[in-house]
Amino acid sequence: MPKMRRKADLPTKICAACQRPFAWRRKWARDWEAVRFCSDRCRDTGRRTADRPGALSR
Ligand SMILES: [Zn+2]
Repeated sequence: MPKMRRKADLPTKICAACQRPFAWRRKWARDWEAVRFCSDRCRDTGRRTADRPGALSR
């Protein structure tokens, strides 16, 4: 990933569920660092895939 960032460009990430790039949104302004999914739907999917219930007990 190049570090260059143009003024108008929004930061982007790759969705952990659908593997597609998505751009920063205002609603994520607070916790962009923690955002991993492009949508609520993907978050639900990603959770099921990544954090399998019962796989880890903490
Ligand atoms: Zn997604």
